[in-house]
Amino acid sequence: MAKLEPRGRKVKILATVGPASREPHMLRKLLLAGADAFRVNMSHGDHATHAETIAAIRALEKEFHRPIAILCDLQGPKLRVGTFQDGQAVIRHGSHFTLDRNPEPGDDTRVCLPHPELFGLLGKGQRLLINDGKIRLRVIRADESAILCSAEVGGVISDRKGVNVPDAEVPIPALTEKDRRDLAFAVEHKADCIALSFVQRPEDLAEARRLMGSASGAALCAKIEKPQAVQRLGEIIELSDIVMVARGDLGVELNPEEVPPLQKRIVNAARTQGKPVIVATQMLESMIESPAPTRAEVSDVANAVYDGADVVMLSAETAAGQWPEEAVAIMHRIGSEVERDPGYKGRIRFLETLPDPTTADALSHACMTIAENMPINAIVVFTGSGSTARRVARERPGVPMLVLTPDNVTARRMCLVWGAHAVATKDIGSFEEMIAKGKRMALRHGFAKAGSKLIALAGVPFGTPGSTNLLHVVTLTGDELTRK
Ligand code: PGA
Ligand code: MN
Repeated sequence: MAKLEPRGRKVKILATVGPASREPHMLRKLLLAGADAFRVNMSHGDHATHAETIAAIRALEKEFHRPIAILCDLQGPKLRVGTFQDGQAVIRHGSHFTLDRNPEPGDDTRVCLPHPELFGLLGKGQRLLINDGKIRLRVIRADESAILCSAEVGGVISDRKGVNVPDAEVPIPALTEKDRRDLAFAVEHKADCIALSFVQRPEDLAEARRLMGSASGAALCAKIEKPQAVQRLGEIIELSDIVMVARGDLGVELNPEEVPPLQKRIVNAARTQGKPVIVATQMLESMIESPAPTRAEVSDVANAVYDGADVVMLSAETAAGQWPEEAVAIMHRIGSEVERDPGYKGRIRFLETLPDPTTADALSHACMTIAENMPINAIVVFTGSGSTARRVARERPGVPMLVLTPDNVTARRMCLVWGAHAVATKDIGSFEEMIAKGKRMALRHGFAKAGSKLIALAGVPFGTPGSTNLLHVVTLTGDELTRK
C-alpha cells in the first residue's frame, strides 16, 4: 500500500481544486506535498466535473489509507452586473453610470443589475463596488427602476462582474436557487463540510442546516466576508461548525487595512468557542504565476500559523495557478518551520481558552497540563463525534494528538482541526482493548516507541456519545512491538 507519513505539522492545509489541479495525478501530487483537505468551489465548473474530482479524492483516500476532508464551497448570493454590447466597457473616473432593470446589453453609461432586491434598497451616498472593489461607484439617486451613480474610481467593467454593496443588508436569502442545487449535490456526494458564502445573519446558517437535513454528517462552515456577519460574529460562530476568514470579499466589503485586525478577532473568537478556523485568500497569491512566493506572503502565512489558525487555505494558487504543487509544498514548509520555533507555543497560547465546566473540558485541560509536566509523546483520543478531540485541540497542546474513531466522517472532519491526526478504526469494547489499541496505533503511526508515554482519553461506557470521563497515562514497554 502507498504510504503517507503523518505530517508532523499541526496547522492544516486546504487546497482549492480547479482546472490546474483536478486531474487525479495532480490531486495526488498535492496530497503528497502536504494538502490535508480539498475545497471544491461551486462558483465554477459543473456537477459532473465536481463529481469526478470528489471520486478522485476518495480514490486517494483509499490508496493512502488516509482520511481526506472535502469542503464544498457554495457561491452564495454573489451579486453580478449583466452583460455589455462589446463584452466590456470603460467607466471613466468621475463620470455618471446607471444600473437599471433593462436586460439589454450595457455600454459606458449603463448596465443591467439583475437583482430586483437592490432597487429601492440602496440610497444616496451608499457604495457599489465592482470587480473586487476595483471600480467604486457612489449612489447619487436611486428609485425602483434605476440607480444613478458617480464613478469615484472608474475602470474596465466586463460581463457579469461581481458587485459588493457593503453599506446595505441585502434582503435576499443566503442560499440562491443555485446554492440549493449545489448543497443537495454536496450532501449527495458526502462532502465533509459545506461552506456558506456571504453569511449575513445567524438565520442564514439555520436555513442551510435545515436544507442539509439531519442525516448529513457534513460540517457547516460560515464564511465571514460581510460587515453584517462581523457585527454578529459570536452568534454566527455558535451556529457554525467551522469558520472561514474570507479575506478576499472581506477586504472589498471593508477596507483592506481592516482585515488584519479582523482576522485576529475572528480567529480568537473561533478558538475561544473551540470551532476550527480557516484563514483564506491571497496567502501565496504571487505563486499563481511565480514558482516562489514573496517574503510578505511567507510572513502572512506564518502569521496566520502564529495566530493559532487551524487551517490555511490556497485558492487560485492551486485551482488555476501554474505552480500548485509548489504552493502546497511551500505552505507545508512555512507551517513546519513556525511550529519548530521555540517561541511558537507561547505565541499561540497568548489566547486564554478557559475550560467550560464540563468533564470533557476538565480532562482536555488536564491532558494539556500533564503533557507540560511529563515527557508525553502523544495524546490518543477515542471519539465518536470528534467533539472531545476538538476540545483537546482547543487547548493547543504541545504534543501530537492521535484521534481514533469508528466514524469515517469524523476522521475526515479532523483534517480541518489543529493538530489532529485521525485514523478510522473499529470501535473498542473494553478498557483493556482501549489501552492495547491506543499503544498499537501510536506505534504503527509513528507517534511512539518503546518507553514512550501516552495519554489515553476516552468515555466509558464505550460508544456512548458525550461520555468522556477517562484519562489514563500509559507507558509502552516494548512488548507491544512484537505483538500484532
Ligand atoms: P471566495 O471566498 O474565494 O469564494 O470568494 C473566499 C474569500 O472571499 O476570501
Ligand atoms: Mn468570497
